Amino acid sequence: MEDCIFCKIIKKEIPSTIIYEDDKVIAFNDVNPAAPIHILVVPKKHIETLLDVSDQDNELISYVYQIINKIAKEKGFANNGFRVIVNCGKDSGQEVMHIHFHVLGGKKLGDKIV
Ligand code: 5GP
Ligand code: ZN
Repeated sequence: MEDCIFCKIIKKEIPSTIIYEDDKVIAFNDVNPAAPIHILVVPKKHIETLLDVSDQDNELISYVYQIINKIAKEKGFANNGFRVIVNCGKDSGQEVMHIHFHVLGGKKLGDKIV
């Protein structure tokens, strides 16, 4: 998608601190971190929101969770725990219309999600 920030990051047209990358997924540090660890895990396929995920994406979305698992273990924050958030649409405040998984950790997070 031409005007999509995350597609531009995927194409390396915008720089980012890449944590992990393969042919299906990229993970990079959030530019405006909300916690000491704030990684965005992004499927390379341009899917706008969670509502646009189809049956064809089942393997891909499952794969995203496998990659989050791998990153958490390899980066050493798996044991302390972390939170995964997907914003969807207006009320969630989703800003970037390319599905992404926020991985937050590195401190005791708030007990409530909202
Ligand atoms: P959303 O609110 O859409 O769920 O989250 C979008 C996230 O993308 C925000 O946390 C924001 O800080 C991050 N973000 C927006 N633009 C960029 C960028 O150009 N580079 C990086 N690394 N993160 C970005
Ligand atoms: Zn995109």
